[in-house]
Amino acid sequence: MSNIINGTEIAKIIKDEIKKDIENLQGKKPCLAVIILGNDDASHIYVNNKNKACDYVGIKTDTYFLDDSISEVELLSLIEELNDDTSVNGILVQLPLPKHINEKNILFKINPLKDVDGFHPYNIGLLSTNSATLKSCTPSGCMEILKRYNVEIKGKNALVIGRSNIVGKPISMMLLNEDATVTTAHTKTKDLEYLTKQADIIIVAIGVANFLKPHMVKEGVILIDVGINRFDGKLCGDIDFSCSNKASLITPVPGGVGPMTITMLMKNCLIAYKIQNNINIEEN
Ligand code: NAP
Repeated sequence: MSNIINGTEIAKIIKDEIKKDIENLQGKKPCLAVIILGNDDASHIYVNNKNKACDYVGIKTDTYFLDDSISEVELLSLIEELNDDTSVNGILVQLPLPKHINEKNILFKINPLKDVDGFHPYNIGLLSTNSATLKSCTPSGCMEILKRYNVEIKGKNALVIGRSNIVGKPISMMLLNEDATVTTAHTKTKDLEYLTKQADIIIVAIGVANFLKPHMVKEGVILIDVGINRFDGKLCGDIDFSCSNKASLITPVPGGVGPMTITMLMKNCLIAYKIQNNINIEEN
């Protein structure tokens, strides 16, 4: 079996599972409201991909294309409306937001039960007590990859490089919840190479092209690359792909973690719908 993880294939399998689950809702469809401000090309491409994935699995989408001159108060009042609208199950605000809007104020306004990005402190708090239902999408995608490739996490030394609120910290908590011994590294970490050489599982989420090199890892390590960078005009991750010669499993960029993020968003929309309609959520 190849040691290169096929994220596109896993994402397709999960999307088909979600689609089937939604078909069983007897004609009812979860609804995701997406708010996007301004004309940033990358954000528009991303929102377009989300909408396509929603169509595929059977999630209804309402996209709000707003001028980036909108005030924070106006945006907060739209979120309040969507919070109160019982036909809307999930709310997603496309980041980044313009400088005059406080991102935290916006994200914290979203009803935690509709917080399909899993960024609300309520959901982060639940994650830290291992009781979350809505978990942030990219970290969940990494965990799902490990699960689908039957990686034993319990008791393993897991190293997460990067401590952002949206990737590094939540993935560290998820690994801890699965009984790994977790170290979280960042720019102030001393002797990172010592840590990388001890690790059985390394997740890199820093945004530095080809940062992790083969001499830094041990034979048989499992490598998950969250990074998305452009180097010499080509897309690449935070892990130098020649590490694949030492790794027992490695995610490529593109085609690894990337396709999982939108898929886990679809999963969260379905979970949010079920929570709001008192439908039992099986193992998640
Ligand atoms: P971020 O908010 O910029 O955080 C980067 C983190 O990496 C920080 O904690 C920083 O440490 C740490 N870091 C940076 N350089 C480092 C170095 N040389 N050594 C050790 N730590 C270092 O980034 P993010 O939002 O987490 O995203 C990280 C990467 O993942 C980016 O390439 C982003 O595009 C990608 N991403 C991909 C997906 C996906 O769907 N695949 C989703 C989200 C993000 P300090 O805290 O000390 O500054």
